[in-house]
Amino acid sequence: MLIKKAIAFLFLFLFSLPIVAKSSLVDGVRIWSAPDHSRLVFDVDGPIKYNTFRLGKPERLVIDFKNAKLRGKLAKPADNDLFIEDLRFAKRNKSDFRVVLDLKNKSKPKTFVLEPSQQYKYRLVIDLEGIGTPAGANKAAKAVSTKKQSVKAKQHSVSPKKQAVVAKKTTSKKIAKSVKDRNQLRDIVVAIDAGHGGDDPGASGPTGLKEKAVVMKIARKLHALLKKEKGFKPVLTRQGDYYIGLRNRMKIARKHKADLFVSIHADAFKDRRVRGASVYVLSSRGASSEAARWLADKENAADLVGGVKLEDKDDMLASVLLDLSQTATRQASMVVADSVYKQLKRNGKTHGRRVQKAGFMVLKSPDVPSLLVETAFISNPSEERNLKSTSYQKKMAKAMMMGIKNYFLQSPPPGSWLATVAPKKHTIVSGETLSEIAQQYRVSLTTLRRTNGIKGNHLRVGQVLTIPRS
Ligand SMILES: [Zn+2]
Repeated sequence: MLIKKAIAFLFLFLFSLPIVAKSSLVDGVRIWSAPDHSRLVFDVDGPIKYNTFRLGKPERLVIDFKNAKLRGKLAKPADNDLFIEDLRFAKRNKSDFRVVLDLKNKSKPKTFVLEPSQQYKYRLVIDLEGIGTPAGANKAAKAVSTKKQSVKAKQHSVSPKKQAVVAKKTTSKKIAKSVKDRNQLRDIVVAIDAGHGGDDPGASGPTGLKEKAVVMKIARKLHALLKKEKGFKPVLTRQGDYYIGLRNRMKIARKHKADLFVSIHADAFKDRRVRGASVYVLSSRGASSEAARWLADKENAADLVGGVKLEDKDDMLASVLLDLSQTATRQASMVVADSVYKQLKRNGKTHGRRVQKAGFMVLKSPDVPSLLVETAFISNPSEERNLKSTSYQKKMAKAMMMGIKNYFLQSPPPGSWLATVAPKKHTIVSGETLSEIAQQYRVSLTTLRRTNGIKGNHLRVGQVLTIPRS
């Protein structure tokens, strides 16, 4: 009896204790500056209570953290950050604190909390984007670049008069260039996509090498190599250490009217012995489920299929059109992936015996042939060492460049410069002779023999001859 009473008393006592909630620890902020947005990530040790609001004149964004403590210092934004001028921290009372962002341009903040994943705990993410669609961002980008230019001009102490002359020259150059462009055959556009970036580091190696960093280096090398190739115009989807959503990567490729999209990654596996490069294309399963998604997304679906605006058509026809376009794209993806795979195989160890298929979101453009290259297993100690070395990065970039170039030499897009210089192919049908073919293409018999390594006159039906450009 007595014991029972004692227990009851104890319970009462326990429940009457004031409940002191443990305050959250905010572990500073990471800031990523992209050409069209800025992202702030506050790392927190648990779920966080917060409140944000804006103040005008000057533009500010206020973030109030409830029952939280700030550990360490807050990082400062980069000088060229488009949206954030500065950020300040202040204690509000014993348990709360406030962060104030001084903003450079009008922007639309998006705030959300990410639950723990991989190496991260809870994160409070604030994305600042230009107001209005890309135009807003472009305006902001222009504002900054003009600022940069004026700073540059100051550094070089160029007089305003000289600046005006320079500006005039650039304008006339631009006009001349656009006239020239219209008369010229077009370049083949290759969108090079360095995977991950910003607060998404991707996989990491045993000594801490980050996928996002090494793939950026390889992507830049591939970009430099393709830039040197006549008839090619490479573009990078990501130009620095910031994150771009997967759909946005595809959008960037389509905005540049890319003929090819190459996403560069480094693999990781729990078994550290696994090694080798691999090449992926989209699996048909991934593609078919995505077709519906594209259809739903009117903005993206417009103009997808060779200029046919999908919203004009009923859904059934639209789905057939999209399917046709996707099938062609998937076939092209497979051929180019195979060409890249062959080059990688010549280069060293590959993982898997052929091009592999998977439902990668980033490969789902229905109208741009796309492939994904896993350059090596970053989780394998010796491959991590490889990935760190400049010579290996160059080797990978070179192999990819060769694979891409070989593919386009075989199937140059109509209207491209390459289409005019790529050697033609002729498949032998029954009854044809070598001298007839030489005559038909107006090349000498000797050149035709030399190009194809033929000694006599013997031809096989189905044999493919390379016709040199005269
Ligand atoms: Zn990756």
